[in-house]
Amino acid sequence: MKRAILLLIDGLRADVAERAIADGLLPHMAALTAPGARQRAATAFPSTTSVAYLPFLTGALPGRCNIPSIRWLDRTAYSGRWWTERDAVRSYCGWQAGHLNRDIAPDVTTIFELVPESIAIFSMITRGLDPDADRIQGARKWWGTVSHYTENHQPGDDAVAKELLAQAGGDWRFCFAQFPAVDGHTHAATPESARVLDSLQQVDRTIGELVARLTELGRLDETLIMIVSDHGAAPVHSHLDLATWFRDRGARTLAHPVLWTRDPHLAVMVAGNAQAALYASPNTPRAERHPISTLRAPGALGLPDDAIAALLGEEAIALVAGEEIGGGVRVASREGEAVLHQRGEAISYQRESGDPLQIGADTTHNHREWLARTIDGAFPDAPVALLDQFRAPRTGDLVIAAADGYDFRKAWEYPEHKSGHGSLTPAHMLTPAWCNRALPDGPLRTADLFPVLCAWLGVEAAPILPLS
Ligand SMILES: [Zn+2]
Repeated sequence: MKRAILLLIDGLRADVAERAIADGLLPHMAALTAPGARQRAATAFPSTTSVAYLPFLTGALPGRCNIPSIRWLDRTAYSGRWWTERDAVRSYCGWQAGHLNRDIAPDVTTIFELVPESIAIFSMITRGLDPDADRIQGARKWWGTVSHYTENHQPGDDAVAKELLAQAGGDWRFCFAQFPAVDGHTHAATPESARVLDSLQQVDRTIGELVARLTELGRLDETLIMIVSDHGAAPVHSHLDLATWFRDRGARTLAHPVLWTRDPHLAVMVAGNAQAALYASPNTPRAERHPISTLRAPGALGLPDDAIAALLGEEAIALVAGEEIGGGVRVASREGEAVLHQRGEAISYQRESGDPLQIGADTTHNHREWLARTIDGAFPDAPVALLDQFRAPRTGDLVIAAADGYDFRKAWEYPEHKSGHGSLTPAHMLTPAWCNRALPDGPLRTADLFPVLCAWLGVEAAPILPLS
């Protein structure tokens, strides 16, 4: 009986993983995976935990799942009654984490629904799992809270390792396990700090034990094993707290964790912390986003003049994106502006006053060609990722990506994030995609691994195009 194991090392950056294996720090992963089956994959945007699990577990990008971020506001439902309508302002970082499963678009199918004989270990996404197959969820909540303050994330990984090894001989067909410590130790220091590498080496030893156990059981040959990550990270030298930035300029700003704000001009929803979405006049319910031209009008975001021009004056901000009247997404940076359009499979990039995505031409490609063209560039897969982001009804009016070295949250972030993720830069977007069997020819998105899992398990899953 064919089986598959998806091991997700949260926050492991592609180049960190590649250096570690080249330096001989990961002997068990090296023995398990062939060099040709060690690829890089572009993750989803925002490049942050839970949102970026969706491509592995559903084959769909976050916008398609209508989970545009870890924090969002339902602009159709929120009218300013911050307590009675608190369910219309989402943060998966607290008590609303349990809403994630039901928030995923109903027409998106999880691998747990496709493969009823699935288990998940330490997973935030569990839709379709039998209660008994949702393993050590209590430990996830406990260690998630405790480790946040102690800054020692290894106990979470140890709990996952113990459960994974205990389950090795079980009668499941698909097993998803996530290891949280690399991400936790990265936030507390750097993406390649000693504690990160210690945790990574501990995962390697666990994989060695897992392989030994599967060999003993005679089940290694029937088991596909993938080693992946949901996002990378980069050190943060300066925090530009976006909510504070707006408040300092006189804008009444709704932002977590204090949602009570009288008559706010805007809401700021931060993820990762290097991505943010802005919602104009959040107390007035409306179905449609405001186009970017409307948001530039004086006062539209609570500033006396053009707030977008002011934002682009900040070195912390790499890109600002919003919708055009009549369709398309406008991308702006200090380098100028360009517009993305999708017509069927054709995705076009048209420079206007500059080349914010650093493409070097006005051009049209399909999604595969765009990935190939951008994966080694300044913003991997950005054309597809940005168009995807604006497919989600829940996405903000404006979406902002931070430059490496910066993030958007300081006032309420304890302990301080010394590294972060969420943005579209290579350090945040590129992840390892390693496997004990051949992978499709690259370049890959993390979403491309879902059909590989389905094919191995003999599960019929309709192909999902990134922007279909
Ligand atoms: Zn993180």
